[in-house]
Amino acid sequence: MPTKAVLRHISIETPRTNHQRKCSAHQRGKKAHHILKGDTHLVIVEGDDKIRYCREAATEILDQAQRDLDALRLQLDRTAPASA
Ligand SMILES: [Zn+2]
Repeated sequence: MPTKAVLRHISIETPRTNHQRKCSAHQRGKKAHHILKGDTHLVIVEGDDKIRYCREAATEILDQAQRDLDALRLQLDRTAPASA
């Protein structure tokens, strides 16, 4: 059985054009900005939408995801049958 990939809705993109893409973390206020040509950023696909986060926001999102993965792994290991 091939291992199921569960992170396929998350990717990193670096646009080659200045087509306007909103940063979902900074949509309004003083920090509001767009993601422009050359801005490597995190893309999360939710249904038909692509939600984009700039590098700064992506770092926090990936840190949180890492903590979530670590917690899942811990939970799995804790319930593992004792090896002989
Ligand atoms: Zn941003």
